[in-house]
Amino acid sequence: MTTSIPSPVAPPRRLLMGPGPSDIDPRVLLAMAAHTVGHLDPYFLKIMDETQSMLRQVFRTQNTLTLAISGTGSAGMEAVVSNLIEPGDKMMVCVNGVFGGRMADVADRCGANVIKLERAFGEIFTSEEVETAVKQHRPKLLGIVNAETSTGASQPVAEISRICHENDSLIAVDCVTSLGGQPVEVDEWELDAVYSGTQKCLSCPPGLSPVTFSERAVATIDARRTKIQSWYLDMQMVKNYWGNNRAYHHTAPINMNYGLHEALRIVLEEGLEARFARHQRNHLALKAGLKAMGLKYAVKEGQQLPMLNAVFIPEGADDVAVRQQLLNEFGIEIGGGLGPLRGKTWRIGLMGAASSPSNVLVFLAALEKCLLDQGLAIVPGAGVGAANTAYRANWNFVSPYSAVNRKRDVCGQPIRPAAITLKQGL
Ligand SMILES: *Cc1c(COP(=O)(O)O)cnc(C)c1O
Repeated sequence: MTTSIPSPVAPPRRLLMGPGPSDIDPRVLLAMAAHTVGHLDPYFLKIMDETQSMLRQVFRTQNTLTLAISGTGSAGMEAVVSNLIEPGDKMMVCVNGVFGGRMADVADRCGANVIKLERAFGEIFTSEEVETAVKQHRPKLLGIVNAETSTGASQPVAEISRICHENDSLIAVDCVTSLGGQPVEVDEWELDAVYSGTQKCLSCPPGLSPVTFSERAVATIDARRTKIQSWYLDMQMVKNYWGNNRAYHHTAPINMNYGLHEALRIVLEEGLEARFARHQRNHLALKAGLKAMGLKYAVKEGQQLPMLNAVFIPEGADDVAVRQQLLNEFGIEIGGGLGPLRGKTWRIGLMGAASSPSNVLVFLAALEKCLLDQGLAIVPGAGVGAANTAYRANWNFVSPYSAVNRKRDVCGQPIRPAAITLKQGL
């Protein structure tokens, strides 16, 4: 038999402007290529401690039980639900998109008595309706998605958290897409269990799920009458590895943790406020551009996520043909619609490192070409023009070209070169 060896991995270079993964800072990829050490090596233990401390800063919490689950965002979801729910417990899940639906499925598999509070995809829940439902059903745990990536809707959770506590319910929040892109105030909002993912606004490859549990949540886990259904995600054992005992539980994905460590360093170097401002600024410019091209947002003004822009596919444009052309001609990936929005919306991500003026302007120019090719009547330059007008009106934020960001270098090379002055004749 002849052996056949495939060619080595050589992926195309893309602009990742979909619902995740997002563009990765080269510093993160370099960190991941560093030497693997043992999972109990003192060096790795130091990386774990530092990662926990940085995660607390990014989650804005003092919670001791704050760490990165080995697994993607969905593993964080399972960890939160399976640790807080025992068979027969009531869990209310707010479902207004794919990820709320997934949380309800996870709860069902954990044996919860699941009560779904539903809203159409793209809408958000009011505090009043959640309050009425919580008072009626008195769930042990309420699950809600802060940034519904499937629809582009931003769900405020501070008031809902207060309502939960007034009624002796715990609150679990999906912050997979919001963390690092818009405010997530775990302590101020008194959230009990929060999970995220690495590949959205933290701009690290997929593979880890940052989680944090309040003291109230930890006490609930400690008071369980039954074993946690998942061995792998049992926070009692996981915390023994991340905490002082350092007891072997599973082999942490060492290099993935190097990547998250570097990604968190980048987030904190930029500063959370500056990072949120950057996401907002680029969102406003993209929106101005899309609107000037006649595209409409699928979510109401005031409820839109800055990092996930869902727009209706314009009349006369072919969903797949446009996304394929963006990928083939421009190397740009955006997302299609999910669930009932399949074939109806495009999801344009401006997450983490992908939230930049260069990406916004290149994307608008590329989309214009695709839509003109589809025969749509678009004024050439309208999108880019409107985005530039928005940038000129809003350019008072820490730009990715600022001195702060220039300091972050790779192998001694600046990623963002310092602004240069050209001389006549050069
Ligand atoms: C991406 C995402 C998830 C799932 O994360 P995976 O990393 O794909 O497992 C869960 N919730 C939301 C809101 C997401 O955007």
